[in-house]
Amino acid sequence: MTEHAVVIAGGGPTGLMLAAELALARVDVALVERRADQKVPGRRAGGLHARTIEVLDQRGIADRFLSQGTIMQVAGFAMISLDISDFPTRHNYGLALTQEHIERVFAAWVDELAVPIYREREVTGFAQDDAGVGVELSDGRSLRAKYLVGCDGGRSLVRKTAGIDFPGWDPSLTYLIAEVLMTEEPALGIRRNERGINAMRKLEDGTRVGVVLNEPHVRQGDTATLDDLREALVAVYGSDFGVHDVTYLSRFSDAARQAASYRERRVLLAGDAAHVHSPAGGQGLNIGVQDAMNLGWKLAQVVNGTSPESLLDTYQAERHPIGARVLKNTLAQTALGRGDERTKALHENLSELLEMDEPRKRYAAMMSGLDIHYDLGDGHPLLGRRMPDLDLVPANGTLRVFTLLHDARPVLLNLGEPGGFDNTPWADRVQLIDAKYDGIWELPVLGAVAARAAVLIRPDGYVAWVGDRTQRGIHDALTTWFGPPTAA
Ligand SMILES: Cc1cc2nc3c(=O)[nH]c(=O)nc-3n(C[C@H](O)[C@H](O)[C@H](O)COP(=O)(O)OP(=O)(O)OC[C@H]3O[C@@H](n4cnc5c(N)ncnc54)[C@H](O)[C@@H]3O)c2cc1C
Repeated sequence: MTEHAVVIAGGGPTGLMLAAELALARVDVALVERRADQKVPGRRAGGLHARTIEVLDQRGIADRFLSQGTIMQVAGFAMISLDISDFPTRHNYGLALTQEHIERVFAAWVDELAVPIYREREVTGFAQDDAGVGVELSDGRSLRAKYLVGCDGGRSLVRKTAGIDFPGWDPSLTYLIAEVLMTEEPALGIRRNERGINAMRKLEDGTRVGVVLNEPHVRQGDTATLDDLREALVAVYGSDFGVHDVTYLSRFSDAARQAASYRERRVLLAGDAAHVHSPAGGQGLNIGVQDAMNLGWKLAQVVNGTSPESLLDTYQAERHPIGARVLKNTLAQTALGRGDERTKALHENLSELLEMDEPRKRYAAMMSGLDIHYDLGDGHPLLGRRMPDLDLVPANGTLRVFTLLHDARPVLLNLGEPGGFDNTPWADRVQLIDAKYDGIWELPVLGAVAARAAVLIRPDGYVAWVGDRTQRGIHDALTTWFGPPTAA
């Protein structure tokens, strides 16, 4: 039996990001992935939101994605565009890039970090005991790990085998997504009907047609047939346009479900395995990658023995509300997509509201992930929020805050008197940086916030402590987040 500290089931975007995070923290991690490579049949995610680009920037790999895609304003709510170009972030935009491209970039990074991937086999079962998890693979091999993380998508075998409930809302609507040829001229563009939005567009080759359309009745399962597609086309457009030669056909729905718990002892869930919802607003891949960013350093510290297992409880406490919020906003977006006269009137009213500055900023910050606020108690507005990527002036040269996070190690940033902090008992874990910063501290939506002498930044870029020269609470914060002090 081969042993690893952590086994990840599923090498989609979430599993790949988590594998990289664990590898950066020197954890012996392995991935098990059903697919032979990162080919993604058909169309899934179409890009990245600003906060996801930021977290990739925190690891020094944002440019790998930016250079492959198209920078543009992508945030929106119920198809109402939300411009974030005035937000105080280096990445005040989104990126249009297909999921296959995104996965390929992640996979290349994971390869560089030398993470072993057991490809073309599946996790078929597991059993956990007090010391670890025995993981069964489809090729008859077994792996042993301290922890197993299910990043195995919406139908997660890991979630089901762990007996974790998946409550939520059944579909009210199903969609077909297809790439086809049509003998008649297709009705290109967007067409609303009483159930929601439909769209047809010519694909890059200029002849094939990409179709997304809702079905007249809710159907279960994602195996769709050409007859289903013809029926849906006739229901929406009154014609099937002579559809034939299907290269891709799949069904998705607005079902919204979330794992009741993200952890069952030594088994954890992240990404679609933990939450599924409609693609409205393009959020699923983005929050999966950010789940991985939140979990990675915490799991690494527990596995490496620097933090107690209770640190993992903060993963659920922080990420479950984010998933719940996404589920809720997708339900609202589906409702707003209906084309009956009353819903159209409601949509028009909301569009007017979102043209106003304050509502636009709030919704844009939510959809782009820039407003995430983990509840770390009362205090300075930065506590629990993303650390802005300030241009620092250290003893020599200049330095961006995000650069300090490239190795996924926490940072105690002292902007006050140089040498004013002593982190000796945590020096093996926490970088202490003395630097100057004279600009304003500005957050999306909140605007300028009071500058402080020091901040403690977690490896995921969220602020764990904000303080001044009295340093009140710093030892508690260091212990809570990075484990007890090392004896001298
Ligand atoms: C039509 C559509 C459009 C979308 N558009 C967007 C968008 O614009 N923006 C956005 O952010 N999101 C979008 N999404 C959602 C996005 O595709 C998912 O949220 C994202 O793929 C989740 O990543 P994941 O790694 O958690 O899961 P998945 O991508 O599902 O990856 C799971 C992986 O696990 C593997 N696997 C499964 N079971 C096993 C097993 N037992 N053993 C080993 N391997 C296993 C699978 O092969 C797969 O590689 C869209 C989805 C759809 C359907």
